[in-house]
Amino acid sequence: MQTDFLIVGQGLAGTWLSYFLQQAGCRIMVADHYNPSSASNISSGIVNPVTGRKLVKSWLFDTMIDFAIPAYHRLETLLGIQVWHERNIIWLLQTEHDLNNFTARSATEGYTNYITTVQRGGWHPAFNETAGIARVSGGYLNSPLLIAAYRNYLQQSGCLVTDRVLLNEVQLLPSGRVRWKNIEANQIVFCEGYLAGNNPYFSTLPFAPNKGEMLIIDVPKLDVGQHLVKGGVFLVPLPDGTFWAGSQYVHDTINEEPTPHYRQEIETALQRMLAIPYRVVKHLAGVRPSTDKRRPLLGIHPKHKQLVIFNGLGTKGVLMSAYFAHLLANHLLHGHPLPPEVAVEPFLAGG
Ligand SMILES: Cc1cc2nc3c(=O)[nH]c(=O)nc-3n(C[C@H](O)[C@H](O)[C@H](O)COP(=O)(O)OP(=O)(O)OC[C@H]3O[C@@H](n4cnc5c(N)ncnc54)[C@H](O)[C@@H]3O)c2cc1C
Repeated sequence: MQTDFLIVGQGLAGTWLSYFLQQAGCRIMVADHYNPSSASNISSGIVNPVTGRKLVKSWLFDTMIDFAIPAYHRLETLLGIQVWHERNIIWLLQTEHDLNNFTARSATEGYTNYITTVQRGGWHPAFNETAGIARVSGGYLNSPLLIAAYRNYLQQSGCLVTDRVLLNEVQLLPSGRVRWKNIEANQIVFCEGYLAGNNPYFSTLPFAPNKGEMLIIDVPKLDVGQHLVKGGVFLVPLPDGTFWAGSQYVHDTINEEPTPHYRQEIETALQRMLAIPYRVVKHLAGVRPSTDKRRPLLGIHPKHKQLVIFNGLGTKGVLMSAYFAHLLANHLLHGHPLPPEVAVEPFLAGG
């Protein structure tokens, strides 16, 4: 079978890249071995405009969100589902210091649209008393639903192979093309998430994966309406009435095994937040494909032009995936330059 692009992996990266390439009229095939614990399948899907201790907007936030929201809506129309939900995030502020930080940030230019309220006191009787709360405009992507629906769409269009691509089965052809099994493509694009660390062609990239564990909990008496809640952990109401709760950033153990230790850590944070009982329904772990500078990594291998990578979506895959997939598609199809901050060439020059 002849195709223009063979895309390896159908998380958010592979989904968006295949979408933009197909929209541009290219032939694509996607190979994904299906992993229910992939980052995209267990993500809470939150877009949170202010992050870190300093409450700053992430790199290119305004540009990326302005691109991402209409893009998610186009994908929703294609698939006939709703996955993007604009939501206010309620930050439960424990100390005067937190309250002062938010108050100062809410008056900073560029932040007034995002931090709409900062006030003293608690928020909701189901939550323990706090020094104050802040209301931040953000959103939530039902990422597992998007991945499943797009997978179905690819399958129905005959563009999906459910299989693991092993590097020793990938042949770089003298013609400059690439073959895997019976598929011959102009280029193969690796959208493998954290497993890209095992890909010998790209092993010199500065990957810094981190693991997160999460719980699905049932809190029968809790109704937070359309809000997401941020205390010691995030609490995201899911369509079936349960809540997503998590997560941490673990750098020393990179696997998808849930552990009693981190379950306890999430539960301790939940008990500090919630004044009412809950029940754990599920406990999962996954790995975020992060990089040392927390920027994505994308582009064409300088020596083997038929090899391409799209990785490093890290903790902000929902925000970054559509924007950078679009840039990469334009790079592959029209030679548009990529921002130097995300380019892979400097790391691969010797390879
Ligand atoms: C606990 C947790 C919470 C998170 N919360 C958020 C959040 O709130 N907001 C946010 O923006 N981001 C969040 N993230 C991060 C976000 O999920 C990731 O940035 C994003 O999903 C990464 O997408 P990806 O496509 O690069 O990788 P993945 O989702 O890991 O997808 C990679 C895909 O490639 C497949 N694959 C890999 N190798 C091969 C191969 N050789 N052959 C075939 N298939 C292959 C895998 O099966 C998988 O389907 C969270 C992540 C975790 C783990």
